[in-house]
Amino acid sequence: MGVPHFLVLPYPVQGHVNPLMQFSEAVIKHGCKITFVNTEFIHKQANNSGEALDNLKEQGMRFVTIPDGLDPEDDRSDHQKVLVSIKTNMPALLPKLVQDINALDSDNNITCVVATMNMGWALQVAHKLGIKAAFLWTASAVSLAACYCIPRLIEDGIIDSEGVQIKKQEIQLSPNMPVMDSADLPWGGVAKIFFSHIVKEMKNLEFGEWWLCNTTSDLEPGAVTISPRFLPIGPLMESDTNKSSFWEEDTTCLTWLDQQQPQSVVYVSFGSLATLEPNQFKELALGLDLLKRPFLWVVRPSSDKNKVNNAYPDEFHGGKGKIVKWAPQKKILNHPAIACFISHCGWNSTLESLCSGIPFLCWPFFSDQFFNRSYICDVWKVGLRLEKDENGVIVKGEIRKKVDQVLEDGDIKARSLKLKELLVVDNSVKGGQSSKNLEKFINWAK
Ligand code: UDP
Repeated sequence: MGVPHFLVLPYPVQGHVNPLMQFSEAVIKHGCKITFVNTEFIHKQANNSGEALDNLKEQGMRFVTIPDGLDPEDDRSDHQKVLVSIKTNMPALLPKLVQDINALDSDNNITCVVATMNMGWALQVAHKLGIKAAFLWTASAVSLAACYCIPRLIEDGIIDSEGVQIKKQEIQLSPNMPVMDSADLPWGGVAKIFFSHIVKEMKNLEFGEWWLCNTTSDLEPGAVTISPRFLPIGPLMESDTNKSSFWEEDTTCLTWLDQQQPQSVVYVSFGSLATLEPNQFKELALGLDLLKRPFLWVVRPSSDKNKVNNAYPDEFHGGKGKIVKWAPQKKILNHPAIACFISHCGWNSTLESLCSGIPFLCWPFFSDQFFNRSYICDVWKVGLRLEKDENGVIVKGEIRKKVDQVLEDGDIKARSLKLKELLVVDNSVKGGQSSKNLEKFINWAK
């Protein structure tokens, strides 16, 4: 009998591809095989033929593609459109893909399908084909716990059947979990159609025997025990590079960082999806100018054709800063010149910063990012909130004030370093709880 062969399917966004790639690297180290399924569109954009991947390919990783059902010129920043197209078109294509892969590799047929959120249909297809299936949740365990608890939240009158909170109140998903704000539930503020999608997706997830979480029981002790299916295997940090970037990384910022003082630079990035309104963009630019320190700001080309990320005000000087379109984020967070991170609190960015011991200034936009902010500021106490003013804008004075405040707070830095130690040493190394859980999962797949 051959080694386990995983067919892995990320939803086509950077925040799913990255952790699934890290997962792939981790299981390859255990001698398993991986077939990584990207949409044709993403495969082209991410250029998975780069040198960074050669090593992995030699060790048993293969890339295949599947069409997302849209035309090449369709707008992939319209997630509703992408989601509907994927769910309509891909399920019928997967059995044939599995058959073709197995025909090529008859000694090593696919033993297990692993998919991320929105790709739950693949678990159902796997079930029909008699193949094992698991789900990789790429956000925090507490946000999965919230989705898992939807029926109870409705029953308890916290949200209505469309996911809307009935009144603002504190909630506790289980007795050993922190008290959270019901306004921070991960589907708050998104279209109702996404809530009903989540409800359906939770049914698909039942076809996955394990719900692998990119977290640790130290970070979220209560959340990971909410169901026996939760299996914390994080932080998935196999290497210090993101091997499948959707945009070209500008590495000149690393040489620029080399020239800066230790712990002096404010790093600003809002991940791969969030965009700022022009007036908010201006305020941020002016706020960065007000800092008496260097900054490194990622201004991603907008994927939304109707929004541009270039509303620099005339007064913007930017002399102390460096602006790039896309950065090698993990290397940046591990650079000694970085002092703090103005972050949208996406889960990957949160984990990467925690693993580097960098304090946060939290600027969440949507979905699980509000829960993440609450853990960063109130549970782990490794960052501060950037507050909006009465017009809903984070103004330049607030940015300057909070940067000063977070950097003057020795306790925040000390807790960040302690958490880094806990995450990097206690979990990822052989014998740590997450690595034991990963072994348990691989043995199950065998
Ligand atoms: N990232 C990067 N370069 C950048 C900005 C982000 O490589 O300039 C990576 C980052 O390291 C993380 C991912 O993009 O792995 C973003 O995922 P996250 O969950 O933080 O946010 P999302 O993009 O899903 O909102």
